[in-house]
Amino acid sequence: MTVHWHRRDLRAADNRSLSAAAETGSVIPAFVFDPAVLEYASPPRVAFMLESLSELRAWYRERGSDLVVATGDPRDELPRIAREHDAESVSWNRDYSGLASKRDEAVREALTDAGLEATSVDDALLFEPGSITTQQGETYAVYSYFWKKWRDREKESPVPAPNGEQLASVSGDPLPSQEALGFDEPEANIPDTGMEAARRRLETFCADPIYRYADQRDDPAADATSGLSPHLKWGTIGIRTVYEAVERAKSEAPDDATADSCEEFESQLAWRAFYAHVLATNPHTVTTNYRSYENPIQWRTDAAALQAWKDGTTGYPIVDAGMRQLRAEAFMHNRLRMIVASFLTKDLLLDWREGYAWFREKLADHDTASDVGGWQWASGTGTDAQPYFRIFNPMTQGERHDPDAEYIRTYVPELEDVPAETIHEWVALEPDERASVAPEYPDPIVDHAERRETAIEMFEAARGDE
Ligand code: FAD
Repeated sequence: MTVHWHRRDLRAADNRSLSAAAETGSVIPAFVFDPAVLEYASPPRVAFMLESLSELRAWYRERGSDLVVATGDPRDELPRIAREHDAESVSWNRDYSGLASKRDEAVREALTDAGLEATSVDDALLFEPGSITTQQGETYAVYSYFWKKWRDREKESPVPAPNGEQLASVSGDPLPSQEALGFDEPEANIPDTGMEAARRRLETFCADPIYRYADQRDDPAADATSGLSPHLKWGTIGIRTVYEAVERAKSEAPDDATADSCEEFESQLAWRAFYAHVLATNPHTVTTNYRSYENPIQWRTDAAALQAWKDGTTGYPIVDAGMRQLRAEAFMHNRLRMIVASFLTKDLLLDWREGYAWFREKLADHDTASDVGGWQWASGTGTDAQPYFRIFNPMTQGERHDPDAEYIRTYVPELEDVPAETIHEWVALEPDERASVAPEYPDPIVDHAERRETAIEMFEAARGDE
């Protein structure tokens, strides 16, 4: 018998460790609430995890099994679970962030010391970190080369879920509540959780929006992206299942343009893999710049500006809409993530780590590799980063990507009755005009043109340019 240790793979189908364990006999599914890991969690993520776990448990129960639940250090809990159920081995799917890899090594050692077999497999990515490299065997620092290899390499197919006969007849303790784990209820309405919701999302997306994805993925009001990120983060769907569905949609695409749109979507899946590769070989980039500079970047400290950014009260409508979406939904559209990250670092001149910490707290899909990668890209300190002198103009971004201000009005009710042209001119209006049009909505807290110049000077000083 084998214990399958669920972690960020809260699903039964297309789960490589679970499926391999099922083939060897009887599987005992287990989940361990590890206080050392929970220290880094946040209310929306815990809520997403608990709801998904509850659905997974129901799936096991319908098949005469259960999820064995424990709280404590997995180095103690997993050998105990294995002993109590007469299992000889424990297996899991690998996690690649620095902390997770260290923990997994320690668990492996504890299991081996207890005379148990410990097995881990790749599952979360189509190609695990270290498998797509330059000719010199190094991690790519430029996405486009990585993407070509990712695209052209053969991918594995999904693996089946275990059947009832392959599952041990066990029973587990109740799942702890959000409160018992020490977390408040999230302020956001979190995205739909669990394997069933993930499957529906994929199906709906591949039935139609995927064919518009290339044209509309930057339009936050169009609802043209998959919304799969929390599911990929928590593993409520397998990446092979996603890829297979996209390939099917591509083969059924009505023309070349729609087939290209499917490939555009695949290239986003490759970004996720790219950042996982980058973080695995550069674990220090969670806290330090990927790029090196001659001098430290002189980020400012401005608690009031940081708070206005978090609250969505900067007086820049598109920025505020994005920040309010984050608080309301524990999610933010990708274009908005880029805009608000650029605004924090280039307009407010605040350290990207402040923004990363807030995203980590508020996003249900927070994934260390993609979050750090995204922040370092937007601030100009990362791989493939925007050159430091190319700075998003938040007003132009709003006009280009939300021309009818539909997205802005969804999240900024103070601007509900304001015409789109006026919203896109907000910063250029005279203060008394602003006060008469939307008295509740704030004035801009900074002057973009001025801050743009200062940001360039700040980066030039860090680079040691004359
Ligand atoms: P879709 O457009 O439908 O894309 C499909 C999938 O591809 C996504 O679910 C995601 O897994 C992957 N993907 C898409 N774009 C990216 C990207 N730029 N980088 C990495 N993977 C990508 N994504 C996260 O999953 N977790 C994060 O914590 C995260 N933080 C970010 C922080 C910043 C500052 C930025 C700029 C981007 C961040 N992203 C993060 C990437 C991206 O914004 C989200 O993956 C995307 O918005 C999720 O929505 P979706 O599932 O509808 O995306």
